[in-house]
Amino acid sequence: MRKAGIAVTEMIPLSVPNFEGNEEAYVLNAVREGWVSTGGAYITEFEKRLAGFLNAPAAACQSGTSAIHLALLECGVCPGDSVIVPTLTFIAAVNPVRYQFAHPIFMDCDESLCMDPIKLKRFCEEECGQKDGRLYYKKTHSQIKAVIVVHVFGNMADMERIMDIADQYGLKVVEDATEALGTFYQEGRYKGKYAGTIGDYGAYSFNGNKIITTGGGGAVVARDDAHLEHMKYLSTQAKDDPHFYVHHEVGYNYRMTNVQAAIGAAQLEMLPEFIGRKKKNYETYRERLSGCQWGRLMGFRDGTDSNKWFYAFELLDDRISVRQAIEALLKQKIQTRAIWGLIHEQTPYRNDAAYQIEKAVMYRNRIINLPCSTHLTYREICYVAEQIERLDQGILEICPGEQKDRSNI
Ligand SMILES: *Cc1c(COP(=O)(O)O)cnc(C)c1O
Repeated sequence: MRKAGIAVTEMIPLSVPNFEGNEEAYVLNAVREGWVSTGGAYITEFEKRLAGFLNAPAAACQSGTSAIHLALLECGVCPGDSVIVPTLTFIAAVNPVRYQFAHPIFMDCDESLCMDPIKLKRFCEEECGQKDGRLYYKKTHSQIKAVIVVHVFGNMADMERIMDIADQYGLKVVEDATEALGTFYQEGRYKGKYAGTIGDYGAYSFNGNKIITTGGGGAVVARDDAHLEHMKYLSTQAKDDPHFYVHHEVGYNYRMTNVQAAIGAAQLEMLPEFIGRKKKNYETYRERLSGCQWGRLMGFRDGTDSNKWFYAFELLDDRISVRQAIEALLKQKIQTRAIWGLIHEQTPYRNDAAYQIEKAVMYRNRIINLPCSTHLTYREICYVAEQIERLDQGILEICPGEQKDRSNI
């Protein structure tokens, strides 16, 4: 059945880090000098380079999750408050709401896979009330303090509309830009602005599969310098005196280490190159998959320049399930993955509020992510595209009458 085409011998992984630059040299340097922990020159250097890239001051921390947590603390999210969050995302975007003993309210996505601004507005209009300039959820009387907007797979959310809604209803905006470092607006009100630097706070992640990595790590930016300083303070156990152990707040051990920052400083040197490769590889996929009959490569928002971090392929033939596609591709030595399960259906969040979730359900049942490492060769991409194109034949031949089971993915 498998006709001779391009041959590959090794498994093509979904996404692996790339250390072609100065990573080893900088890490060795940090270790030799003995600066391995939460102090050292690479931390400052990393922050300086990141701020230079984003055109916004940044504080380095332990993870994207800790960056989001710090942002929520800074928004003043307290026990009993509510925070609007997307349901179609990685669960790390939502868990910090619970760290604050606050309540998430789950929102649907639009065709960009990011939060649907039309539903967000309708929710604020119809399900909420305003009192003394505060927005509250009518059902629970809980105050809604913030909205977390995720720029899914490097695609920019509709920030113009979302910022207008947030202004109108007095909501703080936390941008989860953990997947979108390097994505920016090319036109409109936010022309030249990077994902993460438009809202009140922005969070980045440097986990192993992100566009740059520090092993594990993150960063946070704030529109207001005083808030950024305060988050830095909280991330270093809220220590008030350089010599004495005086603390006026509960702090966290959320600061990035010098070893992580050494890797990060080298990775930042490579960032423009990595973005270039992600874009080029995306174009190759697009070209090669343009004739595919049973699915399509999803696009990125017009008027933005995306980092094209992750490639989403939408299955359009109801007879082929996500599970079948993943398993069939794995047999051809291609590693793909399903998009996330919806967060409002996960055990810890089943009892929380969810507002008109429709599109997220559809996309959850239809999307797989394709290999996207920056090392990918042209030949490998052609091979993946070729296998995808004729996957329907294989699957439908093996199990022609089988009903697609979508309840179990
Ligand atoms: C990776 C990721 C995070 C968390 O980042 P960590 O550094 O792994 O803590 C949060 N949100 C989204 C959408 C992510 O993809």
